[in-house]
Amino acid sequence: MPDFSQLPSVEKLALALADEVTLPRPLVTGFVKRALAQWRERLEQGEEADRGTIEGDVLSDLRTFASSRLQPVINATGVLIHTNLGRSPLGQRAANALGEVATGYSNLEFNLLDGKRGRRAGYLETALAVLLETEAATAVNNCAAALVLTLRTLISPEKNEVIVSRGELVEIGGGFRIPEVLESSGARLVEVGATNKTHLKDYAGALTERTALILKVHRSNFYLEGFTAEPAPSELAALAREHGIPLVEDLGSGAVMNTDDLAPIDHEPTPQEVLRNGIDLVIFSGDKLLGGPQAGIIAGCSALVARVKGEPFFRAVRCDKLILTVLQECIDDYLRSRGEERPDIPVLNFLALPLDDLQSRAEAVVTELDGLPVRTAIVETTSQTGGGTMPRAGFPSLALEITPTGMGLEKLAGRLRSADPAVIGYVHEDKFLLNLRTVFPSQDKALANALRKALQ
Ligand SMILES: *Cc1c(COP(=O)(O)O)cnc(C)c1O
Repeated sequence: MPDFSQLPSVEKLALALADEVTLPRPLVTGFVKRALAQWRERLEQGEEADRGTIEGDVLSDLRTFASSRLQPVINATGVLIHTNLGRSPLGQRAANALGEVATGYSNLEFNLLDGKRGRRAGYLETALAVLLETEAATAVNNCAAALVLTLRTLISPEKNEVIVSRGELVEIGGGFRIPEVLESSGARLVEVGATNKTHLKDYAGALTERTALILKVHRSNFYLEGFTAEPAPSELAALAREHGIPLVEDLGSGAVMNTDDLAPIDHEPTPQEVLRNGIDLVIFSGDKLLGGPQAGIIAGCSALVARVKGEPFFRAVRCDKLILTVLQECIDDYLRSRGEERPDIPVLNFLALPLDDLQSRAEAVVTELDGLPVRTAIVETTSQTGGGTMPRAGFPSLALEITPTGMGLEKLAGRLRSADPAVIGYVHEDKFLLNLRTVFPSQDKALANALRKALQ
């Protein structure tokens, strides 16, 4: 007979733990109930444990659960568009606009001039088309949705073949693979060329009366180098035009300005230049190098954009008012800053930060650690753009190298992750580093405080 006398009661334990984590009481109670039921089973199977062990175990699991609640963190990884850390942060103006629209009513689908129903996203679509120097544009929930929607729009039961180079059958991340996305849209993938080389004649040879479109996919997270070839964009565009077949490019990131002007990184193709090369529709993400909210932008030939918007699936992936507000603010920022250096957008600011600025901020943080059991150094390191953009593009940055004398690096990293706000650094070659490029200057104080507390 197992001894259940050490099992605390759900109510008592929930009450005791409610003070330890700031979660709604029913969540704590439910959690404790499930955890104690599991302990009851373990005791039944012969495991032995006293009340203290059980309570400690439940509390530790509860803390893990509480830490999974979505919350702000300080990104000291130096990766600008960190998929796990929420990709692009929004600028303050966009965040303010978001607050205003979010907490009130808006003219989302209301024409303020005639008082009748208005066109959703009409202003944004015009602004996007102007920025991208093209005929028309629209936005949906993310780039993956934009791709599926575009494919669904352009294929039909009679014409469902989509031609893609074997060098572009990309897995984007999170299991998002181009061949599978194509299939799920009802398209039939027609692969052409070889992994390293695809010629114009490969595309030409694959065209049939069942061809719906030619799809280009930007190799946004890997490089193809060496014995490689692909047709010039203008040649491929001419071939597509000659056969009346739409040419679509999934660009992934889509920096709308030359980000290589801001930092020593490889050139990231812009939607503008892709469209100039004769692509009919370009697709890219809103929350990668554009620096806006999660969104998928579709731009190009107005007849095709109109078809995309007319496809019933569009309704399932359209943006809500919050995203539309933020995206509108972001696109206006770009349009206003035309001819100037760059709009005030966090990822672009981070990209352009001079090392001197990072040096003086790093020194200030180091000063705050005086007298603590730690060795510090300010070291040269690299930053990445990340988020499946420009894989080779490590560029110079500075990091604080923190070596506690009284604990291991993993312990320090763990303590910083449980700070409020959490600080996310990384261990590289047995060194714990905090890369300051992705830390907002306004977070330097919190970073120093978290370090002080973690090291004590
Ligand atoms: C990132 C990426 C996507 C997916 O974008 P989401 O906005 O995350 O849906 C699609 N295609 C390419 C080439 C990408 O780099």
